[in-house]
Amino acid sequence: MIPAGFDYELTELHTHIGSAVSPEIMWSLAHSQGIKVRDAHDYWKFVEAITVQPGKIKRLDDYLELFNITELIQSSPEGMEKSAHSIVGGAYRKNLITRLEIRFNPMLRNRGGERDLDHIILATIRGVEKAMLEYPVKAALILMLDRRFRKEQNAIIVEKAIKYKNRGIVGIDVGGPQAQDFKMSDLSDLFDNARKAGLGITAHAGEDDERDIQTVIEALGVQRIGHGVQSAWHPNLLKLIRDRNITLEICPSSNLETKSLKTIDELRFVLKKLLEEDIKFTINTDGPEMLNTSLKKERAFLLREGLLNEEQLRECEENARKASFLK
Ligand SMILES: [Zn+2]
Repeated sequence: MIPAGFDYELTELHTHIGSAVSPEIMWSLAHSQGIKVRDAHDYWKFVEAITVQPGKIKRLDDYLELFNITELIQSSPEGMEKSAHSIVGGAYRKNLITRLEIRFNPMLRNRGGERDLDHIILATIRGVEKAMLEYPVKAALILMLDRRFRKEQNAIIVEKAIKYKNRGIVGIDVGGPQAQDFKMSDLSDLFDNARKAGLGITAHAGEDDERDIQTVIEALGVQRIGHGVQSAWHPNLLKLIRDRNITLEICPSSNLETKSLKTIDELRFVLKKLLEEDIKFTINTDGPEMLNTSLKKERAFLLREGLLNEEQLRECEENARKASFLK
């Protein structure tokens, strides 16, 4: 049934566990594990420390730094189980999301190797499964690789994704801040292995600059791109995205908050370009709690600003269903 206040069931493809758990749950998790967050001994200071605050984020890397705190608090099996559970339930209750893909990097949740990766991953799966018993949501996980990691570390994450592919891991992604010496193309054999194993392939690219877009398409063989908004200024990239039938995971507020897009007019330009060029895209939050948003709010914002109309929003939902890695 569709409850009052909702139009139809929604799908979200791009949200991170590190930015999707509400502050009160993160606060109890920190306390139950005896974790002290520097300069955040009071609840309200803590909320400020793990959410986007006016004037605090000057560029994408400032935003990514907030994850250092949330990842530390989630670095245990119990932290991950509770986090994953709360995200799936919250998505249904607050946004009527019934198809949900959530992503995280397990190796940024094991305290530098102190905790066992398999335990972290299985606890996350358990959290998702418990929530699916409570709510009619189909949810699954995407494991993330990181630009800051050595290749051997990223290889282990792909290995784990393949190991648990029949237990709720549906894809892989790569993200994190730009790092010196990192070359996206170096990951191509790892992505090949994941694809051959039947996993879905996405990657963070084209968020604050366009440099990785072509590589993730040609060397990693992505089916979707996280963000990809910078392609709007490059006709050759738009053509490549369309020709390869790639779906973009657009996260409007996130791009504005991280200053990857400077103004609403830039966002308007991007969406207009994607529509004109017939490129498939979906609407996502990237991290509703850290960004003080929700999928419902994102859609209302796009409507209110005249960036997309009702019909185009419905098409975004349709695109999300089709591009989902959930079987
Ligand atoms: Zn993201």
